[in-house]
Amino acid sequence: MAVPAPISVSRDLFPFPRAPFASSSTSLVELHRASLRASTIFGHKLKSDETEQTHLRLSKFLRSSPGLTLKASREPAELTQQLRNNNLETEVKAENGCDLFDDLKYRFLSFKRHKYLENLEHFQDLSNGQSPKFMVIACADSRVCPSIILGFQPGEAFILRNIANLVPPFENGPTETNAALEFSVNSLKVENVLVIGHSCCGGIRALMSMQDNEKSSSFIRNWVVVGKNARIRTEATVCNLTFDQQCRHCEKESVNQSLSNLLTYPWIEEKVAKGELFVHGGYYDFIDCTFEKWTLDYRGSKNDKNGRFAIKDRSFWC
Ligand SMILES: [Zn+2]
Repeated sequence: MAVPAPISVSRDLFPFPRAPFASSSTSLVELHRASLRASTIFGHKLKSDETEQTHLRLSKFLRSSPGLTLKASREPAELTQQLRNNNLETEVKAENGCDLFDDLKYRFLSFKRHKYLENLEHFQDLSNGQSPKFMVIACADSRVCPSIILGFQPGEAFILRNIANLVPPFENGPTETNAALEFSVNSLKVENVLVIGHSCCGGIRALMSMQDNEKSSSFIRNWVVVGKNARIRTEATVCNLTFDQQCRHCEKESVNQSLSNLLTYPWIEEKVAKGELFVHGGYYDFIDCTFEKWTLDYRGSKNDKNGRFAIKDRSFWC
């Protein structure tokens, strides 16, 4: 009887680091184990936990690659049964959410190897302090991470994310948003504040759905009411449009409202007036992947006899 051919799976299918780190004994052990798993993936001496880890990733890969099937029928019955058992264990682990943290673990180790250790001097400098050029206020929506879409690296941007990327006015009192603003503007002395709105914003939709003087126990509604003036201007300007189109308009209008609200903080307006701080609006459309950027024209706004909000340096990235 012919010896069955081994199942061949490239090591590139497994996203964990392959080489040990030089500077961390913990990482060395971890990566050595990872390397063992990769090189002996279908060896007969795998320990049970290592087999489990291997199949966890393999199972996930196979789920995302329907064109690839294992030729398990060519394997000894014992191994085929082992594959079935491990798949069952994998499903149990997946239901418990364990594989999510396995993914995070390997992503972290990959970051450590490919970003942190390869830029060790930079990260050691960052451990002594930060001097970001940007303070960014973006929505908490999982699809609009500023570090992903604008490529901010560690140390480059002090980022705050809240529902609908809103900045409340000074008179509203303390919130986590203005606490972050105070720290970044007065202590870190950032040179730019960038407020980023986005398409399909659920927070703006909640704002647009509110009725005037509506009392609510919802934390969401009591937060998004901060953008009430943007909603009123939207309804006055584009009342002929559909509700969805009005929401889209309000997503940008609320960014401008937030830029205006930034100037209600005396320590922000003072720096903007001196040209030490610039406030910008941004809008990320993730339907067609475009980004619009504009800058508040402080002098233009102040000099406008009708008190209109002026912007400059508008650009559209597509
Ligand atoms: Zn949003």
